[in-house]
Amino acid sequence: MTANSPTASSPAATPPAAEIALRPAEMHIYKPTDPATAIVSKSELCTVSKKAAGFVRHIEFDVSGTNLVGRAIPGQSIGVIPPGTDANGKPHKLRLYSLASPSGGETGDGTRLSTTVKRVIDEHWESHALFTGVCSNYLCNLKVGDTVKLAGPSGKRFVLPSTISDHDYIFFATGTGIAPFRGMLLDILRSGAASKVALIMGTPYSSDLLYHNDMLDLAAKHPNFTYLPTISRERNDGPKGPGTLGKLYVQDRLTANAEQLGAMLRSPRALIYICGIAGMELGIFQQLATTLSGSDRDQYLTATAEVMANTKGWERNQLHRDIHLSKRIFLEVYS
Ligand SMILES: Cc1cc2nc3c(=O)[nH]c(=O)nc-3n(C[C@H](O)[C@H](O)[C@H](O)COP(=O)(O)OP(=O)(O)OC[C@H]3O[C@@H](n4cnc5c(N)ncnc54)[C@H](O)[C@@H]3O)c2cc1C
Repeated sequence: MTANSPTASSPAATPPAAEIALRPAEMHIYKPTDPATAIVSKSELCTVSKKAAGFVRHIEFDVSGTNLVGRAIPGQSIGVIPPGTDANGKPHKLRLYSLASPSGGETGDGTRLSTTVKRVIDEHWESHALFTGVCSNYLCNLKVGDTVKLAGPSGKRFVLPSTISDHDYIFFATGTGIAPFRGMLLDILRSGAASKVALIMGTPYSSDLLYHNDMLDLAAKHPNFTYLPTISRERNDGPKGPGTLGKLYVQDRLTANAEQLGAMLRSPRALIYICGIAGMELGIFQQLATTLSGSDRDQYLTATAEVMANTKGWERNQLHRDIHLSKRIFLEVYS
């Protein structure tokens, strides 16, 4: 990758990358007003360490006997309707959770969907009293055998392309943003495609990594899959051994692993998927704009020369208005 020249001028018009045919995704098979009833078939912590600061659970739903069997794909979300009413006495609203399961579900027959849920636990911003999110804690408290109301699935733009083998994939995840990539990765690896896949998984501490041992196993078995756990508050393991790289955010991998990721990015096969905490995308776009140049950069994002000259000053509200993403970037972020 080469440094971005501030004088390079890219048109802020339609990006050059062509439309990418995506896997067809069925939507809204169940509406929130008439949800499916599923049964919790598994619930386990999926942080690598039980000492992690947060609580994140891998939860599986048995959807046998419903119309969801075999009809939800990775990249889609499922709606969960928590029981009870809110402070205004109205029924709780549905919350969305990304599917973590591959296309055939956890058992291959489409009957077991899964997701990855982080308990929202905090001090209330104003009162300082304990604040517990309604749906995440409801879900994480459920036991195997309990029933749960599901709607959806929803989302049809954050899915894999219809021909998996036509592309290579760079997945950027933070926290539970790894959920859709777990399913997508399993779909890609099981398809037998020679596609290269890099998963850049960001967490504050190494104890917070999710599905870490599964990812290490998959990377050991599949030479086309590179797993890059990326820790922002501890040193990261580098080519020269444990702890040889400084603290990194997900976008820093574009320079720390420039040789491998740069070669992938410069190829017309690469697609970038980003999922996790809202705001994570800006740093990735800034880093893409500074480490790529010319037509390599235009494959992903374009802006006027003036905007490109000021990547450090980019703000989120400039996305789509001043900074135009190509069809090769897929984004799903939430707060
Ligand atoms: C497309 C999509 C996919 C998603 N996928 C996942 C996923 O895979 N896994 C996952 O865990 N989540 C996911 N989410 C987020 C999920 O939908 C919920 O928003 C999240 O679980 C919180 O819901 P809750 O009911 O527990 O919290 P709520 O009861 O809804 O509380 C959260 C709300 O309370 C407010 N709040 C937060 N902290 C405080 C505080 N300290 N004091 C006062 N108010 C506060 C905020 O307004 C926040 O929106 C996804 C969201 C979207 C849109």
